[in-house]
Amino acid sequence: MSDYPRGIVLTTAEIESEGLDAVLDNIARTGATALSTSLGVLVPGRLGDGTREPPLDVDGAARLLDRPLWGRRELYLKGYAPHEAHPALWAKVAYPPPTVAPPEHRRDAPRRIIDGARARGLAAHIQISPYTLPGAPGGQTPQSGHGVGVASDRPRRIDGTIAERMVAGHGCLNNPRVRALGRARLAEAARHYADVDGIFLDWAEYTCYFLEDCFACFCPHCRAVAEESSHDWARMEADTRALWDRLHHLTPTDLRRAVDGADWPFALAGAAQDYPGFGELLRFKAATVRAALAELRAALDAAGCAGVALEANGFAPPWSAITGMDWGHVGQVAGATRCKLFTFHWPMITRWWSEALLAWNPALDEAAVLRAVTTALDLPAPPDEHRRDLADYGMPRPDEPHPITMAALTRKLDQAVALAGDGAPCQAYLHSYRPADEFARVLTAAQASTARGCWIQRYGYLSDEKLAILRAAWGG
Ligand SMILES: [Zn+2]
Repeated sequence: MSDYPRGIVLTTAEIESEGLDAVLDNIARTGATALSTSLGVLVPGRLGDGTREPPLDVDGAARLLDRPLWGRRELYLKGYAPHEAHPALWAKVAYPPPTVAPPEHRRDAPRRIIDGARARGLAAHIQISPYTLPGAPGGQTPQSGHGVGVASDRPRRIDGTIAERMVAGHGCLNNPRVRALGRARLAEAARHYADVDGIFLDWAEYTCYFLEDCFACFCPHCRAVAEESSHDWARMEADTRALWDRLHHLTPTDLRRAVDGADWPFALAGAAQDYPGFGELLRFKAATVRAALAELRAALDAAGCAGVALEANGFAPPWSAITGMDWGHVGQVAGATRCKLFTFHWPMITRWWSEALLAWNPALDEAAVLRAVTTALDLPAPPDEHRRDLADYGMPRPDEPHPITMAALTRKLDQAVALAGDGAPCQAYLHSYRPADEFARVLTAAQASTARGCWIQRYGYLSDEKLAILRAAWGG
């Protein structure tokens, strides 16, 4: 086994339910070299007063945990902070700090995990989502709920709309209110966990789950930043609008061209050079992500944590071009990057993108749209694919294979590594929500790539069978 990092991601709910030693011993026995925990205290909640676990991700009710929490494979969780927030850190933040746990739940579970990891010789990381908005749809952080929040803080598409269906519920990275929230969250984490090896950032990029997300952000804050930084706002706006309009007038010939040669998003709409302003929008988003990360790095340094690595998760290619995850430049700020291969999302993305194109072009044939989208996203169907219609493309059931080939998975990882270049090591970030036999194949596909390290999201989907598979792969 190489010296590359091998990590498992967990939440504090898992140690509260299963016991600290049981969980950490299971992790250590796989041959893992590291773990990463989310923060906060998680306790059982109920419908209307908690966030569904596993997260719904818009319409993913089929997803269940492999390792029950408090005896249940799906439940509601409430999240609290174990410590009172530091008032000075939040004084100028528009959003309130997380609610502190009531006395009966006020225990520092992340601290126990960090210390337990070190006692077992494991590197200890934490993970935060700096820019997910309290109250936004998506409710990924249990403190966020499923409300509306401040819609104007979220990315705005070229047609002026703001997403209502959201997986992560995060704000625009150029919005000063959103950036202040991210700095406060990071500084708050640094106050209590300054001794960790690294802090992974999740969703510190734009989103791409829905086709409409590709056409953001055109909020006033983006405009101000673009104009200050000499980006041609008028051209970005005009060409993005032109591409948007063009995708509302597709023909069967356009779809055939996309299938013949994938070059999303231009293959559907014509040559890339027809929309130079859209290319500039993508570069602007990448510059925004780089600036946000550099600011968080500075915030961490200012908190006295110059020795703590700032690490970033990012969408796999080709989505990374849309989200602003510039693997090479981000790798120069981050100590490590992880390329997300959360393949249960991919059929949902395929469906949502296809549904948008069909809504925009009702005369098009559904099967032809589906073929064009999967080709454009480099998602070839496996030989034994059972999905036929768009309706089959949703959250996979726990025992249902994902619509992926291992060659495509390795290819996406290799692309991210190549884009990262000489920057920080780009690691594979695999999801364990999948059938056990497929989990084994995915591990092999990651090992066949050029990625330097592998992380598994998340302990709660690692059945005993999958833990044994991991042990065999990692030499535990
Ligand atoms: Zn914006």
